[in-house]
Amino acid sequence: MPSSVITDAMRRAILLSAHGLGSTSPNPPVGCVILDSNGVIVGEGYHERKGESHAEAHALRAAGARARGGTAVVTLEPCNHVGRTPACHQALIDAQVANVAVALIDPTSRGEGGIALLRRAGVNVEVGVLANEARLVVGPWLDALEARRPFTTLAYRLSASGISSADSALLCERRHQFDAVLDLSGFLEEGRAGAHRPDVMSLPGLRPPYDPKSTLEALYTGGVRSLLLLGPPDMVAPFLVSQTIDRIEVESTLVTGSSQQESGWECLPPGYRWTSFTRTRVGVLGYAVQYNDTSANVN
Ligand SMILES: [Zn+2]
Repeated sequence: MPSSVITDAMRRAILLSAHGLGSTSPNPPVGCVILDSNGVIVGEGYHERKGESHAEAHALRAAGARARGGTAVVTLEPCNHVGRTPACHQALIDAQVANVAVALIDPTSRGEGGIALLRRAGVNVEVGVLANEARLVVGPWLDALEARRPFTTLAYRLSASGISSADSALLCERRHQFDAVLDLSGFLEEGRAGAHRPDVMSLPGLRPPYDPKSTLEALYTGGVRSLLLLGPPDMVAPFLVSQTIDRIEVESTLVTGSSQQESGWECLPPGYRWTSFTRTRVGVLGYAVQYNDTSANVN
């Protein structure tokens, strides 16, 4: 099968996986496409919620007998543990899939990983297919796992009068991809109401003052893997100091010549660099990520 068929299918699987953003935690967002032996898509799916079918199970169910001798294209290593749902590596073996293409290894594999078990069963496994593109969706989940705290995005508005909380209309649009939204001046809510089953993610009872470490630990323990953080600069400052903010979204309606920040920084805190911009109806949305000295000069 030409490799372009596999990469096309992986790009589709990555897109599907993104539909799980904001609802799969503490599980990862994963997408899967099944190709028959001629390279035709015969099944696809994505993981939506912990406790419900994994991406591979959805895709195999759709493919039925047409999966035999075909290729499963998955954004993350198929799981090897039987939990609330059967192990995906076994489902792929049972369906007699001949090849499996995986983008990224699952660091939570318990014991021997799904890939090793598939290979032992005679399945041809290719790993690292479009890994960087798959990371666009599952990367924050992987980072959260490594750091043992939610991948945290800070959002604020920059206007002629200084830094303030993100615009509520914009927030309505942006919050759906996050497991939870924590406004340091008032509330903690699920990103998309009812997106998670209450038995798999529970928001802790947090009270000010918010110590970054214990706050993020409590959220992680509750199942939160992605967090949108809001609040005035003085309340956000400890989170910046403790380097627990991974990404920043700045909504700017700045007027030139109006710089009068009292936060100690102009538009981005030290240690962050721009990655992209979007022009909106009312201004600009700027995205930034944390950098360290070794990556400061890398685009
Ligand atoms: Zn699975």
